Amino acid sequence: MLTRREFFGAGLGAFAAFAAQNSARAGDAVPASGGARKETSAGEFDVCVLGGSCTGVFAAVRAAERGMKVALVENNGFFGGTATAGFVPVWHSLYDTKGEKKIIGGLTEEIENRLLARREAVLEKRTDPSVGAYLNVSALTLALDDLVSKHGSIRPFLHARVTDARLSSAGRATHAVIEDKSGRRLIAAKFFIDATGDADFIRRAGLGTWRLERADLQAHTTCALISGVDAARRAYGRFDLSRILCGKGGAGLEHGFGWTAKVVGCPSLDFIAATRVKNCDPSDADDLTRGEIEARRQIAAIVDAANRMYPPKKGGPGISIAAIAPCMGLRESRHIDALYRVTADDVLRGRRFDDTIARGSYRVDIHEGTGITFRYLDGTETRMTARPDGSMKHARGRWLPKGEKTATWYEIPYRALVPKGSQNIIAAGRMIDCERDAYGALRVMVNCNQMGEAAGLAAVRAVKERLPAADACVPLASI
Ligand SMILES: Cc1cc2nc3c(=O)[nH]c(=O)nc-3n(C[C@H](O)[C@H](O)[C@H](O)COP(=O)(O)OP(=O)(O)OC[C@H]3O[C@@H](n4cnc5c(N)ncnc54)[C@H](O)[C@@H]3O)c2cc1C
Repeated sequence: MLTRREFFGAGLGAFAAFAAQNSARAGDAVPASGGARKETSAGEFDVCVLGGSCTGVFAAVRAAERGMKVALVENNGFFGGTATAGFVPVWHSLYDTKGEKKIIGGLTEEIENRLLARREAVLEKRTDPSVGAYLNVSALTLALDDLVSKHGSIRPFLHARVTDARLSSAGRATHAVIEDKSGRRLIAAKFFIDATGDADFIRRAGLGTWRLERADLQAHTTCALISGVDAARRAYGRFDLSRILCGKGGAGLEHGFGWTAKVVGCPSLDFIAATRVKNCDPSDADDLTRGEIEARRQIAAIVDAANRMYPPKKGGPGISIAAIAPCMGLRESRHIDALYRVTADDVLRGRRFDDTIARGSYRVDIHEGTGITFRYLDGTETRMTARPDGSMKHARGRWLPKGEKTATWYEIPYRALVPKGSQNIIAAGRMIDCERDAYGALRVMVNCNQMGEAAGLAAVRAVKERLPAADACVPLASI
């Protein structure tokens, strides 16, 4: 055994020899096959859900409640996806844009109420569709663990990545291939729900996917928790994020849009979403790696700039990073080629469908390279861009002439989650088939959560009634 002094004194060469010696002692030398692993069975299930954000968890719960044996596979060591791995804390309003009609309920409302009751969430203007409930995302992690554990027929697989699909015929999957600590394993199921965000399983199953050109994809953002913002506000009377990002002497970024929010239950910490990685396709491994590192570089530059622009007074600690989200928050990657592509008009004009499985009122919100566009159901729009001095220019206008009929909520059809040619595989979440502008609204979590629940219900129907995916819709009751 090396002492700490010997270890550092001897350098990495000694460490390598030490590691090799220990590895040989443990008897785990690489086999002569060169490491090729044998597949083993991880069990047989009715429904297999790939991806464990709220979308995937809610799908699993809806299926389990109805007697299905469910496998739930998640790449991280915890559930929650972008909310918990990306620190994104806002669930938007459950009401229509006028705040008169509740349009979203189900597990979203159940979990939100649970967090509110425990003071782990705070409601900001319940009825404003641009905001909603701020969640403590660590509390959400625990709530999801609890939800999964309560359903004995859900078998969770954490730190497990789906890497392939096995098919019996075109569009009919028999197994998901996962890689985890135990090796390469096969999960057999009758029905599969891809909730990986990136359509990893659907693509492996040979079904169609598409994505925008890199330059047109929404930018991605790594979020962080920082301390010291209140002290800066007290000392300077302001904390102007856009000037910190791209103003003179700032972080030198091209964009000026970012937002902060108090961490629920931890008022000395602020959540910050202000990095932006463009031209990055998260379904490309090299882009993803580059993006993760670039986003963290931006966090460092932002914090350094904040401390330059608002230097701590009286020897205070200044602005510090308390935590960086483990994963870059991905706004967009692959979409599936589904039986229907939701159009911008469907969303902005609130088209009604026979196979509606979700409703939403969140605005169209597109994070382009250096700016951001908001398009609202009431016919108005705002485009925000940064001026060279770091101040933000707001260009306001209308996408719809005054006097034309507007909607107060939109609907999401089941067909947009069913890949063309699929027999027993559907999607749930941000891989939905939709036009770019429609996506700006549909991608938010209250919408993805509902897609998850609907996918779970469809899976049950498909298994019990032996229906192909396309015919298994369980539409929402009309309101
Ligand atoms: C910075 C940022 C801010 C945002 N702000 C908001 C906001 O305020 N409110 C809001 O509602 N929405 C917001 N969004 C959008 C929203 O968070 C996402 O669109 C939504 O969470 C997507 O959900 P999803 O379930 O489809 O995908 P994800 O949340 O990406 O979940 C996919 C899950 O699948 C897992 N997975 C992926 N690949 C595999 C694999 N091969 N095998 C196993 N598991 C896998 C992932 O680990 C993850 O848990 C924001 C997004 C970003 C990036």
